[in-house]
Parts: sequence; structure tokens; C-alpha cells
Amino acid sequence: MRQSQLFSPTLREAPSDADAISHQLLLRAGMIRTLAAGIYSYLPLGRRVLRNIENIIREELDIVGAQEMLMPSMQPTELWKESGRYSIYGPELIRLHDRHQREFALGPTHEEVVTTIVRNEINTYRKLPLIVYQIQTKFRDERRPRFGLLRGREFLMKDAYSFDTDMAGLDRSYQIMSQAYHRIFNRLGLHVRAVEADAGAIGGDGGTHEFMALADIGEDTIVSCDCCEYAANLEKAVARFSIEQTGNNNINNTRILDMPERIYTPSIHTIDQLVQLLNLNPKHLIKTLIYRIGDHVIAALVRGDHEVNEIKLMNALGVEQLELADAATVERITGAPVGFAGPLGLAVPVYVDHAVARMEEAIVGGNEQDYHIRHVRPGRDFDMNTVLDLRNVVEGDACPHCDQGRLQFSRGIEVGQVFKLGTRYSEKMRAAFLDASGREQTMVMGCYGIGVSRILSAVVEQQHDDHGICWPEAIAPFHVHLIPVSLQDPSQAEVTESLYQRLRANGVAVLLDDREERPGIKFKDSDLIGIPYRIVVGKQAAEGKIELKQRSRKDTEVLTIEEVIVRMNS
Ligand code: ATP
Ligand code: MG
Repeated sequence: MRQSQLFSPTLREAPSDADAISHQLLLRAGMIRTLAAGIYSYLPLGRRVLRNIENIIREELDIVGAQEMLMPSMQPTELWKESGRYSIYGPELIRLHDRHQREFALGPTHEEVVTTIVRNEINTYRKLPLIVYQIQTKFRDERRPRFGLLRGREFLMKDAYSFDTDMAGLDRSYQIMSQAYHRIFNRLGLHVRAVEADAGAIGGDGGTHEFMALADIGEDTIVSCDCCEYAANLEKAVARFSIEQTGNNNINNTRILDMPERIYTPSIHTIDQLVQLLNLNPKHLIKTLIYRIGDHVIAALVRGDHEVNEIKLMNALGVEQLELADAATVERITGAPVGFAGPLGLAVPVYVDHAVARMEEAIVGGNEQDYHIRHVRPGRDFDMNTVLDLRNVVEGDACPHCDQGRLQFSRGIEVGQVFKLGTRYSEKMRAAFLDASGREQTMVMGCYGIGVSRILSAVVEQQHDDHGICWPEAIAPFHVHLIPVSLQDPSQAEVTESLYQRLRANGVAVLLDDREERPGIKFKDSDLIGIPYRIVVGKQAAEGKIELKQRSRKDTEVLTIEEVIVRMNS
């Protein structure tokens, strides 16, 4: 391709609302353009990278026997009502009506559609297992679209679905897909870590893993052990104490403990204020959070220095939604304004985190305006009928899998997820088959996503420098950037043209910068666009010498034309 003809408008400066380095570089390199918040066009260079990513995914999925198809984006919402997701998906689901007032959704994912297709077409175990996939535009009206392609409202996803006759079959499909994912991310040149994730209260009977691209901008916290292989996302991670059976019995009981005592804590609304007022470590406090689940109210207790993990709480309660109670509810339940809730005398179910159960004594809210209570002993002064793991782990917690390890945090971008759905959809939507003995059975499903467009940004987050993008060879928009210093010089022009033709004849993807620009501008653009190899044809062309430089390296080699041709072929 000749660059003079390429539609790739580069920018000196990134627009001020580009909030991530990958977003800035993709805009500046002329790869993408913004149409509306979270909605992007891919210009030719960006489209080429996307296509390379797609093709690697296709190749690896085809190898494991997954079959590509393409499903519609317009989905009748009756299907979502059938699966039970219509009411819980919330405003992320873009809903619209056709001229007959029939309601549709723009597909954010395709479990409903694929289950409908398969239940209509497959009714015997002989046709199973089946794995299908598609690469398609998805729609999610995200609350905060940001970081360019990392969180869009319209984005490209690869979604795959497996259908098996039983759990053992699902385990095999899950295994096959997980291995394919490792190969895909490897080939893409992404540094990825697979972490245990949370399957949700009714997410399915099995496990789920997320594939996290390590990057500081990542919105997800990856928890890993500094000693063993344990890795999970923050929603799922547990600390050693959290999984041990704990309770009052392992507290040293010899000390004579004081009895609860009211303390005056005027105008305190937050833990921070309380910590300052009493000049103590938040470890010695118990936070009492009041939650609403529909019409029910419950309280959750965690130590002052810990955070409630709402996913763990929802799983414990077997619900898919919960919210912090509003001020009026808090006042009704505790008899005090927000900021003074405590476990003593509460008439709602109380869920206690393990770390709270291990406290010898604590300061808690007094359920009375301007008062807290000290010398409160869990188990003695309030019931601990339900003790469980309710909190987010913190750095330095003990690893749940090995003896010496400590948990550490890093940031990751979720680029893929594999999920054992079990019969979550097939049961509700009646996807059944006849087994070998003629009995009707429910299909067992898995689903597997990859954020195709998100990968574009994730790669740039991982592989760039001060001057621009450094594409991995496997997905780069071109393999070689051929840059003549001056096409006015006849020997440079001749060498350039012959190199261009010969490389192309060998099937090498070459971008020839034939623009009438100063060399400085060409090199700047070249660094920005990030093609892996740069060939510079300069003054030495007359002696048959040209320069070869890799985008990711500093050094330049001077080679003959023949040598370059050989190198670009290997
Ligand atoms: P997230 O937690 O980041 O919102 P998710 O868990 O909701 O993602 P999935 O439903 O698992 O996403 O979708 C499969 C893949 O699609 C994700 O692993 C991610 O790579 C990608 N993806 C999800 N939401 C977006 C988005 N808004 N923009 C770009 N890619 C996305
Ligand atoms: Mg996910």
C-alpha cells in the first residue's frame, strides 16, 4: 500500500477527552475516530489490526472444532423474558420498538438467541457436543463508557457457546476452550493471566475464569499469591482466615473483658471521622452496613479497615441484586441517622465476616444519634449465627492455597472470560435432547467471550513508548514500513520501488511512505503507527545499502537489499 493513498489521518495532539494512553495513540495514529461516547469507527489501519485479531481467533477456534456462525443483533425481548434476564439486565440493555410496537433489544450477548436456535434444531445426543461462535458487534449502554475501545457502548466481541449432554462434557468443552484462549492470547502478543472469577448466585453450577491483560489502567484488581499459582479477581479472592472455621472459641479467654459502654461521638458520619475523633486504628471498629434486598433488610458486619464484598454477600443470600439501604430505612431499622448503625439489638438478620468474629472486642455504632459503644464483644453482646467470608481481601492477607504466600494486587483489563453456565439457560428455555435410552435431558451449556475491539486497546496499553504504538508482529497493520528519505534522488527512488515490488511479490505486507514529506515527519508518523519493521532507503542506496530497524528496538542495522529481502521473508 502506498501511504499517499492511505486514509490514515494522523494527529500531532490527542483530543483532550482521550482518557487513556491507548485511546490517545489510536486516535493520533489515525486508527479510530469517535462518533459518540463509547462509539467508534475503525479507519483502514485500525480495521486491519482488528481483522488480524479476528483471524487468529478464528484459526484457533476452528482448530478445536468450534463452528463460526452469525446471529442477529436485533433480539425479540420475549426471549429475554423467557430466560428471566429481561428484568435484571437493567438499563445497559438497549431496547427499541419496531413499527408494530414489538419490542426488541440490541444484543449485548447471545445466550438467549443461541439457545433458541439450538433447542429448535437439536433433539438428540448424537448431535452433541456442539460449539458455535460468532464475531459480532455488541451493544451495551454502559454507565461510564471510557478509555476508548476498552469500555465502549458498541464493541466487537467473539462469543462462543458450547452444548453438551452432561457436566463431564461441559468440563471437556471448558478445558478445550480455555486452552484455545491461552494460545490465542499468546499469538496476539498479549501478556495475560487467567484468574478465578465469580460465577454469581445463579451463574451456573461450575467455575469461571477471566483472562486479564496486565496493565495499570485496568479496571479490575487481580489478586495473586507471591508464592504459588493462586490468582483470582477481587470479587472472588479469599484470604486464609476467611476460609478457616473461626469463632469465639479460638480467642484467648483469660483476660477479664469490660462490659459495653456508650461513648459520646457527636456529628460522626464516617469511619474516618470516628477514627480521628477516638484516635484509634480502624481495625478496632466494626462497620455495620444496612442493605435492602427487595422488601427485606439485612445487616452486614465487617472490620473497620475492611470493605464489604457485595458479590460474596449476594452469593451468601442467593440473590442477584442488593443495594445499600437509603437513609430513611437505616433510621427505621437502627433508630438513628446514618453513621450510628451497630449490631446490638438489631431486629434484622446479621451477617458477620470472619474477621469480625475473631475480634476480641470492638467499637460499634450505638443505634442512637451521636453515640457509639465500646468494649463490645462479638458473640457475647450480639449473635453471630451467620459467620462467613464477606469482605474483599487486602494486600498482605494470607494465601488460601499455600502456607507461606501473601496476597498481592495488580491491575488487569478483562479481555476474555470462560464460563460454565450449566443448565441456567437451557432449563428456563427448555433446550432438551433425548439421551441414548430415549429419556429427555437438559443440555449443559458453557459460554466464552473475547473482547475483540478491547484487545486493540489492551495491546497498545501494554506495547507502546513515548513515540507511539509498537504492534506485535502477529496483528500489526503492516509488517514493514518502507521509507525513502528522498524520492527526488533517482537511486533512492529506484531501490525503493524495486524493494516494494519484491517484498510484495513475496507476500510481505508493506506500507510505502511515498508522501512528499520531510523525513522527520515520516519517521514521527512511522513511530506513531508502530509497524514492527522499518526499512529506510537513504543516501547509501547508491551503494546498495539500506537501513533496517525494529520498532521496539533502538539499534539500526545497515544491510544490502538482498539481505533485507531474506530477513523479511524469514
Ligand atoms: P466488564 O466486567 O469489563 O464489564 P463483562 O464481564 O461484562 O465485562 P462479558 O459479558 O464477559 O463482559 O463479555 C465478554 C468480553 O467482552 C469481556 O471479557 C470483555 O473483553 C468484552 N467487553 C465487555 N464489555 C465491553 C465493553 N463495554 N467494551 C468493550 N469490550 C467489552
Ligand atoms: Mg466478564
